[in-house]
Amino acid sequence: MKGDDGLDVRDLVVQYARANAPAVADVSFCVPAGRTLSVVGPSGAGKSTLLRAVCGLVRISRGEIAINGRSVVGKPPQDRRAAMVFASDALARTMTVRENLRLVLRSRDRLDRVEDVTRALDVHAHLEKFPQQLSTGERQRVSIARAVLSDPAVLLLDEPLAPLDPDLRVRVRDEIVHVRERFTGPIVFVTHDHSDAMAVADDLVVMIDGRIEDSGDPQRVYDRPATARAAAFLGARPMNLVPGVAFGWDGGLAAFRPERATLVRDGGTLCGQVQRVERTGADVYVHVQTQHGTVIVRTASADTPLIGSEIRIAVAPADLCRYETAAL
Ligand code: ADP
Repeated sequence: MKGDDGLDVRDLVVQYARANAPAVADVSFCVPAGRTLSVVGPSGAGKSTLLRAVCGLVRISRGEIAINGRSVVGKPPQDRRAAMVFASDALARTMTVRENLRLVLRSRDRLDRVEDVTRALDVHAHLEKFPQQLSTGERQRVSIARAVLSDPAVLLLDEPLAPLDPDLRVRVRDEIVHVRERFTGPIVFVTHDHSDAMAVADDLVVMIDGRIEDSGDPQRVYDRPATARAAAFLGARPMNLVPGVAFGWDGGLAAFRPERATLVRDGGTLCGQVQRVERTGADVYVHVQTQHGTVIVRTASADTPLIGSEIRIAVAPADLCRYETAAL
């Protein structure tokens, strides 16, 4: 175990009673002080369980969890100094925002911090209101402020953006980045949404079925996921996966992002028929039925082909990821 400041999780296993498989299976990572780790994965991946294990809200079956170099395994939640923010806020409705925040201060001489942190999270104007007078987004920001003010050793954010509308999500995640300037410890941010994960992350972990599929620099993980399962999950439109033989390889799988492929009249490697044209406003996604399954290509709206037309798809070799696995 390292002696450094931060959160260190080693070989963690959490097996719920009567569950067939562990919710968290041999997970290891560390988050140094000052860094934000995003853990992204589909629903049921074990992300919440992981945070709850760090907090001391679930019993671990095996492994080690250390905060600032000291093991917290077996310690009750109140002795771990791990503050967790959930998708639903847990603010006392009978108290004003200011009273809710003062409740967690470890000493009265930190009152000036209330001003500073609530300004950073843009809830300063609501200090005298009750939680039920605030919008969901404002309540969520107060919850984050409260967690920061409790002076934790580690800050754990469990899908805090989940209840928010898309425009508010962007705003609150910007404010999470501002929180970074006020909180010097490690932050772990858990989400199923890859763009939220990437927006706040210094480091990214992709977790599926209780296991870490990939971890590291967010852009590297996005561009070249370590496993085919990570490739098939990560992204607003995940990577296209086709048999390696489509690109002349012996076997395995080839993966490429919709935005890295181009539709061409001649040349290209894959061919097929345009099945569907999906417009999102900013982009157009063309779904092409090929002999290797449906392949999605992002294109400019001016170049949109007609449904039913035959088209070819080109991918630069540098934009292809190769996986030795035969299937997901
Ligand atoms: P995520 O946060 O990624 O959606 P969870 O950690 O909530 O995933 O769940 C991981 C797995 O553990 C799921 O299969 C879920 O059904 C199971 N699980 C979660 N909580 C419990 C529990 N209290 N008892 C038994 N199984 C649970």
